[in-house]
Amino acid sequence: MLDKKLEKYFKRIDKDSHVVLNTALKSSINDFILDTDRIKDPYKFAHHNKLDVETALQLFLYFTDGNPAPLNMLMYVDCQELDCKSPIYLDEWQSHDYIACLHCAEQYLKEDIMRMVKVKFIKNDEFFITKPPTCTYDILTRSDSGLKPSPAIFQSPSIAQDEMKKNIAGIPLDTLTTLNTTSKKEAISKPLSELDERLSRSMMDFKIT
Ligand SMILES: [Zn+2]
Repeated sequence: MLDKKLEKYFKRIDKDSHVVLNTALKSSINDFILDTDRIKDPYKFAHHNKLDVETALQLFLYFTDGNPAPLNMLMYVDCQELDCKSPIYLDEWQSHDYIACLHCAEQYLKEDIMRMVKVKFIKNDEFFITKPPTCTYDILTRSDSGLKPSPAIFQSPSIAQDEMKKNIAGIPLDTLTTLNTTSKKEAISKPLSELDERLSRSMMDFKIT
């Protein structure tokens, strides 16, 4: 059965994209997102549904729109040291010219490493939490912890660390920003276009200083 919360996403895809959303594809997207695997593999999804990777990525982008959204984007770059290769997460980044890998301490010039940002799609459990109905009993018994929407547009690395070791390829940020347009020439994923703007701005800051 389709998750009710995904309904508005299917409607938007129907309206805004070239993808023909038949019942089988809807149900496949639904099951893929709700699956217990936290990190979602767009290549596996594309293969399973006989879609080209670009179409699969565009479909994924639709589900990253909103706050909270069904999928979060985890941004990182791979450490370039051959015997390290650890992910350096975007939210570990300092506003300095150099950033360091937390595992091998190798330092990178921010300008160089920004072109290598990759993205993994992660199921956002918060999106699927159903708020209990407001009645006296619920107010007295329920705990509000975990129900607040997070302003973060990327997943906290502490949650994803174990799963990051699984062999799921990250998608270059450039590839995603190129695909992030509906047939009406609007941004599919507003969080992604905002992030892209933020990165471009910080690149400019870097050049000025
Ligand atoms: Zn390293």
